[in-house]
Amino acid sequence: MSDYKAKFTVIPCAVCGQLVDVDNFGQGKCKHCGWHQSESCLEDPDNVAYPNMVSFNKAKALYKQGLPLKPSLDDFIAGLQYYTEMEFEYLGVLYGVIWTDCIQFGEYFEFDSTKWQYFDDFEEFKQKAHIGGKLLKDIWDDVTNADYMICR
Ligand SMILES: [Zn+2]
Repeated sequence: MSDYKAKFTVIPCAVCGQLVDVDNFGQGKCKHCGWHQSESCLEDPDNVAYPNMVSFNKAKALYKQGLPLKPSLDDFIAGLQYYTEMEFEYLGVLYGVIWTDCIQFGEYFEFDSTKWQYFDDFEEFKQKAHIGGKLLKDIWDDVTNADYMICR
């Protein structure tokens, strides 16, 4: 007989200490603070690693200040370096950022590649990426759901 609950273990969240269900791999998202329990994120506590968008130490600092675990643009770029495909929303529109031989940035559902922006490196992306002429670095506070890209 399969018992759904048997697959999960309850542990205290590494960031906020509230109880969280984790699977056989020790992974699970905390409903309280949003931290994804993950051994690899604890091993390198100052770096951003999938599936979290901020480092472990930054997550603890944000939580102490009562702030959400929201990534800065630098955290987002660190995630891009780690995962190579990222996404975020701005004013209800979904955008994608993909790192291959260059960095490609544009509306997720825009299939006309001439409408995407292309950058040689992460610094150029950070300084020059824009949405309708507004620099991404200037509007980053209004960006929502910045995360690793999921299949749609
Ligand atoms: Zn938590």
